[in-house]
Amino acid sequence: MLGLLVPALRYLILSDIHSNLEALDKCLELAEGKYDHILCLGDLVGYGPDPNGAIERIRPLAKIIIRGNHDKACSGLTDAEEFNPLARIGTEWTRSVLTPENIEYLRSLPEGPAEVDWFLIVHGSLHDEDDYMLGPAQALPELRNLSVLAVCFGHTHYQGGFMLAPKGRFQSIRSTSKNNGLTMTLQLEDGGRYLINPGSVGQPRDGDWRAGFAILDADKYQVDYYRTPYDLPATQQKMRKAGLPDPLIRRLEYGR
Ligand code: ZN
Repeated sequence: MLGLLVPALRYLILSDIHSNLEALDKCLELAEGKYDHILCLGDLVGYGPDPNGAIERIRPLAKIIIRGNHDKACSGLTDAEEFNPLARIGTEWTRSVLTPENIEYLRSLPEGPAEVDWFLIVHGSLHDEDDYMLGPAQALPELRNLSVLAVCFGHTHYQGGFMLAPKGRFQSIRSTSKNNGLTMTLQLEDGGRYLINPGSVGQPRDGDWRAGFAILDADKYQVDYYRTPYDLPATQQKMRKAGLPDPLIRRLEYGR
């Protein structure tokens, strides 16, 4: 396996960027110097005002990018039928502004899971990229069957994740710190099992509007969670100019 051949590295894990360039740039700025490679768990686009800008920023920087449901819908691989009406409007707007090259790029993104070092990355869950792992009902069966120490996932836009401690106790992982920057460090223990959600860069839904990401140190078996404010009014202004629906603009400030 690849993990045996390369030295253990620090991975910047970004998920659910959703065309929010202001948030993405703040995350990259805060993470500067703290990582060796960037991994992206999907949903580069959808909802936000800068689909081309977000793709063109992250594409040359990331080592691995897997696709999310919005990447599929916005590039026409799937239709947006299952989306709620607001998400569908966002999808149609995104399709109308994406360059042909960026549509092609979204269509070419690989489906997870992808193996990185000694862990895996997925968009939704190991078995279905569109699954939401929101609580124990979905997370517990996944944890019990894990053949690796950790899986990084996104899609829910909730930072944290779930774990089975070495003695088998189930726990949610959640930081409630209001500090900007590093908010929590999780030490992964031998014999435990972990589902790690770095949070959403561009549209958090855990009640905290600040952009979220995580850095996984594969050598120290440690995950650092971060939150950072970004220029939210600038993003909202661009969305208004684009004529995107007001609830999509407002939800960014509530983190919902
Ligand atoms: Zn998403």
